[in-house]
Amino acid sequence: MTEPNAVTRALIVVDVQVDFCEGGALGVEGGNDVARRIADLLGSDHGYSHVVATRDHHIDPGPHFSDEPDYVDRWPPHCVVGTPGQQFHPALLRAPFDAVFDKGSYEAAYSGFEGTIGGEPEGDTLAQWLGRHGVTAVDVCGIATDYCVRATATDAAREGFDTRVLGTLIAAVHPANVPGVVTELAEERVEWVA
Ligand SMILES: [Zn+2]
Repeated sequence: MTEPNAVTRALIVVDVQVDFCEGGALGVEGGNDVARRIADLLGSDHGYSHVVATRDHHIDPGPHFSDEPDYVDRWPPHCVVGTPGQQFHPALLRAPFDAVFDKGSYEAAYSGFEGTIGGEPEGDTLAQWLGRHGVTAVDVCGIATDYCVRATATDAAREGFDTRVLGTLIAAVHPANVPGVVTELAEERVEWVA
């Protein structure tokens, strides 16, 4: 029997895709290692009630793509639907995700909470799906700490989920940003698990 206030915690795996790992179009240092360590976690008795993933899923995201990227708002083309770079990292290709949320078809989308199943406008959003499955708390891991992990964790907290970021299972575009991200997330009541 479930306790009335029992915490049902899900794991959100953010954007662990070929293009965001070393060798990809927008490879983040440490991405391959994060992918392998998340795969190890998923292969263990991890205790999460649900495990979901998000993917960057670009068709024509406008100025999110640039020939002159600044690596802040404008990026080299990445995670284009139908290309190998958009796929999950090979370590996670067979991961038993309960649901996958695609975001960013026609605009920049850093937060997984902007995603829907299949990237379709009528698909369940991440918040709808988690709510429907009784999830009250989430752990966030993946790529990149200072962009999509930060945005996803912020939105999770604002949606009312008890939210933690798993500091050992993330990789940053700009590692110098990380202390600021930790401070910002604390202000959003996101717990940082070192
Ligand atoms: Zn993108």
